[in-house]
Amino acid sequence: DSLGPTVTVGEILAEIVATTRGDGFRAAQPLVGPYPSGAPAIFIAQCGRIGGAAAMVGAVGDDDFGRLNLDRLAADGVDVSAVAIDPEHPTGSAFVRYRADGGRDFVYNIARSAAARLSWTGAVAALMSGAGHLHVMGSALSMPSAAAVIARAAEAVRARGGTLSVDPNIRKELRLDAETEARFAALVDRCDLLLPSGDELERAAGVDGEAEAIARLFARGVAEIALKRGADGASVFLPDGTRHDAPAFVVDEIDPTGAGDCFGGAYVACRRLGMDPDRALTYAAAAGARNVTVRGPMEGAGSRAELDTFIAGTPRR
Ligand code: ATP
Ligand code: MG
Repeated sequence: DSLGPTVTVGEILAEIVATTRGDGFRAAQPLVGPYPSGAPAIFIAQCGRIGGAAAMVGAVGDDDFGRLNLDRLAADGVDVSAVAIDPEHPTGSAFVRYRADGGRDFVYNIARSAAARLSWTGAVAALMSGAGHLHVMGSALSMPSAAAVIARAAEAVRARGGTLSVDPNIRKELRLDAETEARFAALVDRCDLLLPSGDELERAAGVDGEAEAIARLFARGVAEIALKRGADGASVFLPDGTRHDAPAFVVDEIDPTGAGDCFGGAYVACRRLGMDPDRALTYAAAAGARNVTVRGPMEGAGSRAELDTFIAGTPRR
């Protein structure tokens, strides 16, 4: 990654997790947290832990939820020089509780928090003038200020010969407004690497069927597709027709949040460090699997050494 750090732009959140399974938050209950969170923040923390040059564009409030995140990102080796501290708005937050059926209930404070108030500051411009790769989380596009910064950041990276990856992170049922949908499609068209999960592949391609979707995306110029399949592992598809399958590590799932983000952070970091798709995919699958074994959205993100230990000591299906 001699061209410069991997950068992501988007929401930074504090997450509070219910320790009992059940429906929602309409009664007093045990909670644990705050944990640093936000899909882009989880991605970049995992990227930094692996040892890839990493930086984040985002905003936090002037409060402990913000400091929690800044301290963690810095500890993971992430450059936070372009994370703004908003004096007027609190750090974004998310409360999550798992239902007995595996579903999730959330209470969010994002749209009215610092997380959703980004701008193209001097610090962002300075960072992007030296960035080598931009990773975009679809979830960030639903915040208009982030979408604007992402569009400009994509131009900046593109102009200096850098690369772009996109994790749709948008469930099939989720309807975006026309403008956000168009922005998403434009990013898919320009991306080098797409990291969809499950039916996001077909949604991003706009056609049904795995093989059809992959062919359509390659025709649109995508150069590499890493498909996530939860506990069933993951696969990488390349335009030359080759396919690489990741081992599905057998783990005890404590908290599934953040698996996809850790997978992406590890995959992008490893590829940018020069690893081939097979090796990067093994690290990515290990990063996702390891993260679900620990409560908290990024608490289980692993360093290169921790992932080596995990890979050596974890059975595969
Ligand atoms: P997220 O909920 O964070 O958006 P995602 O849907 O994007 O997640 P997943 O497919 O859930 O992504 O997880 C990413 C990868 O992590 C998987 O492809 C797999 O390799 C690994 N992984 C996730 N959950 C498990 C699990 N329970 N057991 C083993 N590996 C897992
Ligand atoms: Mg995901």
